[in-house]
Amino acid sequence: MQEVNLTSDEREFDYAFKFKGGIRKDFEVPVVLKGAQNAIDVLRKLKPILPEANINIVNDSTFGACATKVDMKYFIGINYGTYMLLFALFCRMLGNKDILSSIGNSSNEIDQEKLFNIHILDINLLAAITEPVIPVDSTRKALAFWLANKALHTITIHEYAHIINGHCDLMLNINSNGIITENLRHNSIVSSEDMMLSQTLEFDADAYSTLKGLTLLNMEWNQKAFVDELNSVFKSFTDMLSMWSFANYSIWKLFGVGNYDLDRLSTYSHPPPSIRQRLALDLISTIHLDSNKCDEVVSACLNAALEADRSFEKLSQTVETLEGWKMNQDPRCEEHMESLRGNWKNVRPLLVTYSINGLAPIQE
Ligand SMILES: [Zn+2]
Repeated sequence: MQEVNLTSDEREFDYAFKFKGGIRKDFEVPVVLKGAQNAIDVLRKLKPILPEANINIVNDSTFGACATKVDMKYFIGINYGTYMLLFALFCRMLGNKDILSSIGNSSNEIDQEKLFNIHILDINLLAAITEPVIPVDSTRKALAFWLANKALHTITIHEYAHIINGHCDLMLNINSNGIITENLRHNSIVSSEDMMLSQTLEFDADAYSTLKGLTLLNMEWNQKAFVDELNSVFKSFTDMLSMWSFANYSIWKLFGVGNYDLDRLSTYSHPPPSIRQRLALDLISTIHLDSNKCDEVVSACLNAALEADRSFEKLSQTVETLEGWKMNQDPRCEEHMESLRGNWKNVRPLLVTYSINGLAPIQE
């Protein structure tokens, strides 16, 4: 990257993410970045104490994102591969007449071959083995774009939570790098205590992105701030919530490895997708507990997760042996969720000095 072309913010970003390839300036979708930046701007407007974050695209073709602190400044790096893979995933889904078929005119979509394995986490690899799919129907195409953008916003807010809830500063203190990265690690060498710390931080960041994502979604609904093509899809707020849950669960599914060893759940750096989504769902239902819409909201989110599971199956020849949401029915998953919730009482005190946002209370 020739520094001469960079603004001073971009230069700082490039320096902060040198270890991952630096900034990707020729990223062709500045409007995508603007949407992510806008999500953070709105959250800062709602709570002005929250710090600025320098957000940009990292020159990395794999699926991932990263939050870090360099020279007292905070940075959120979204891999180039992340948006491209999300965009490719949702286009492939909506371009398939058997997926979300009640939306738009799905019969116009062209038959496509299943990929051998949908968990392809490098856009260059995906581009090498298959042609891109673009939905034919304009409503379905608009929804694919909406889902990809929502997914990207969820990731951005999640990374921002790593910053404002003190996770980056804690890491800076523990291992002298303030980097929180979303590369899934399975590591039996690192102690399971460290992995449980990592998973608890992820759980905390998910909780923030769920809560604030809902706030932004409500605003979008109230202002009807979506394109006209989606009027027939979002007839009620619940419809929109359902698609938002579909987008979020799909991120964790794409990012997940597909198969998890249920006897070693504490050795992963991030909780498995179904557990992340279940914890988010618990939070959503708590918020709506006093509302007469609670059942409707919960079933919309749950059905969206099941629909996402089915959609992944329809795109991939490789069958997951421990499939999606059903995994949560295993008592070992329930037990793991309890240990994650319980671990908050150990992790919260570590974050108190660093948190800018204020932390969730310890539930007894
Ligand atoms: Zn994270």
